[in-house]
Amino acid sequence: MVNEQKIEKPVLKDDVCFMQTQDYNNQEDWNWVDSNTNTVKPDIDRPANYYEASLSPWTGFPELQHDLECDIVVIGGGLLGVSTALHLSESNVDTILLEKNRIGSAASGRNGGQLTPGLARWEAESIIENFSYDEACRLWRFTSVESMDLIKSIGERYALELDMHRGHLTAAIHPGHLSALTQGADARKHLGDESVSILGPYEIKEHVKSDLYSGGALDAIGGQVHPLALARGMAYGFIKNGGSIYENAEVLHIDETPKGVLVRTAQGTVLAKKGVILAVHHATFKLLSDINSTIPFYSYVGVTHPIEGGHKSLLPSLYPIYDTQLQIDYFRPVRKERILFGGQGTGMRWNQEKVNEYLTGRLKAVFSHRDDIKFDFVWSGTTDLTLNGAVDCRKIGETTPIYAVHGWSGHGIAQTVRIGKAIRDDILKNNDDFEMLTSIEHRSILLGRQLSPLAIPLAKSLLSIGNIITPGKMISF
Ligand SMILES: Cc1cc2nc3c(=O)[nH]c(=O)nc-3n(C[C@H](O)[C@H](O)[C@H](O)COP(=O)(O)OP(=O)(O)OC[C@H]3O[C@@H](n4cnc5c(N)ncnc54)[C@H](O)[C@@H]3O)c2cc1C
Repeated sequence: MVNEQKIEKPVLKDDVCFMQTQDYNNQEDWNWVDSNTNTVKPDIDRPANYYEASLSPWTGFPELQHDLECDIVVIGGGLLGVSTALHLSESNVDTILLEKNRIGSAASGRNGGQLTPGLARWEAESIIENFSYDEACRLWRFTSVESMDLIKSIGERYALELDMHRGHLTAAIHPGHLSALTQGADARKHLGDESVSILGPYEIKEHVKSDLYSGGALDAIGGQVHPLALARGMAYGFIKNGGSIYENAEVLHIDETPKGVLVRTAQGTVLAKKGVILAVHHATFKLLSDINSTIPFYSYVGVTHPIEGGHKSLLPSLYPIYDTQLQIDYFRPVRKERILFGGQGTGMRWNQEKVNEYLTGRLKAVFSHRDDIKFDFVWSGTTDLTLNGAVDCRKIGETTPIYAVHGWSGHGIAQTVRIGKAIRDDILKNNDDFEMLTSIEHRSILLGRQLSPLAIPLAKSLLSIGNIITPGKMISF
């Protein structure tokens, strides 16, 4: 591969710079800055979200305006796409990445930054139920320690600043949930993972200054990361290794031809001679119309202004936290004493005011002794769920392989990165890790996308009724 494109390494700022987004073409997910609490001019009509605002301005990539050929085309510049492209480039495979908008402009640059093990909604118990013991041990390692270690090693290989820290806490919202957390820890132990300790109602207060929680599970493998720094950092590595990225390059069709897969955008085509990776998350159905195994949903994140007293006054051990309620709250410390707080899953996208009101209400419920905390940033993002809760990994194609991965259910930062490596390994026939993932069966969801505005609230209402009847049973959406 010959490198002609230039790239700056992403640099994290000490704090944010309120600015216009460079994510110029995203018509769906929105960003919002509260002009009452931030210090900048209210003339930002398209604000950057927190992650973008906390990184140095970053060079974009050209649009695709020619017809090109290469061995592998990666479609989608989220964590999955850039990880696959990075790993291919490390093995000297001639690779082009095409991104509809900007690198990391979708879920990968908008998520909660929480690193948790598992395969979307499948934790150790589901993996044990669905695999032989040896395969379950292998899959658990893949989705836990290997995924986290891979991010760390990429950070080291390319000297990236990722704000990655180990240690993750799940906080029980009801005393009954402690037994489910204990069973989860036991399932992990059964698979050879001893990294979870169960905390009682007093111990948890050493980690989170809230009266809401009855205890929790502290996991030494999980943690937190700046996801957009990770996505941009992997794109940096890919370009340094000689890869090429085209942005604002939406792929409209893929056609199998005798010479390979022809990938078409409005202004140019790329012939992929050896394979194509669809790393487009919930949009897979647009390019492979017979794959209908996911329902999209929308979720929301905000970042507060700097907290008076510092974040240790609320999160003394600085661990990121998930809670166990049906509609989870999750939060973590980010630079300059700010707290990142997220939650909700809706079938129709909420507007900014509604989300600000919702997240502010949840933050007050968690830290009821503080009424001075406000959001500087609030934004939305899109993800998708499968019926069985695991991520859907496919390999299809008559002569040239086409890989597709989707159905993350609001999880998957670490695992997208690990699956990118597994796809590279499958292409090079290094191992059968990706085959292990494709062995999980998924069912089509008839009219899933169309019915999402009804199906998501209906599913949540049914689960809420279950929750009222048996409040100690842990169900999360
Ligand atoms: C609000 C929110 C919070 C979340 N919080 C967490 C969390 O705390 N922890 C966690 O582990 N996970 C979390 N997730 C999930 C996590 O972000 C995703 O699993 C992960 O980012 C998926 O990466 P991806 O590369 O598959 O998809 P994406 O990041 O969605 O990337 C897909 C890319 O494909 C591009 N694309 C789409 N169609 C085309 C096309 N036709 N041509 C070219 N490009 C195309 C898109 O523009 C996009 O950039 C969250 C998700 C959301 C939405």
